[in-house]
Amino acid sequence: MTFHTQPHRRYLQEALKLAREAQAAGSSPVGAVLVDAGGEIVFRGRNRVGEPQSAEHVGDASVSHAEMDVFFQAGKLKNPESLTLYTSLEPCLMCGGASALLQLGRLVWATDDAWGGAGRLIAWADHPAMQETDVVPCPDADLEQEGAVLFAPEAKRAFPEEGWQLWQQRYPAETAGVD
Ligand SMILES: [Zn+2]
Repeated sequence: MTFHTQPHRRYLQEALKLAREAQAAGSSPVGAVLVDAGGEIVFRGRNRVGEPQSAEHVGDASVSHAEMDVFFQAGKLKNPESLTLYTSLEPCLMCGGASALLQLGRLVWATDDAWGGAGRLIAWADHPAMQETDVVPCPDADLEQEGAVLFAPEAKRAFPEEGWQLWQQRYPAETAGVD
């Protein structure tokens, strides 16, 4: 395989930085970066659900997720099998599905999404459409915790009662201070 061999950490940190930018702009705190085989970040994206649509970015819709922001910027991908998508939060069914459709080589996320993450409904390793895509959940314990703390208030606000309960079970320490 032709993936870059840099440590995951710096890319996940960049995704988390973009997640904070999204939060500051009034959107949901999720960020994503697409990294090529040489280890260069080629596209940066973030959630834009709370912002207007623009010529450059999808926005103002509940589908304006960080991964979709990356994919719409990137357009037609060359050698998708050599690309790695890093996200601050486990992709949802739409974004996980889009990653499979694009045949990305690898998908890495900082923090699980116990409610909205596609892993709740897809066993990634068993899913026929995901066989071209290596899936690497939560490779860095510190950044996993950081991502959980960052997203926890949004999880409580946005998810129904059952979703928040799943978050509390998955990340008891990180959700403890959220009111
Ligand atoms: Zn999504």
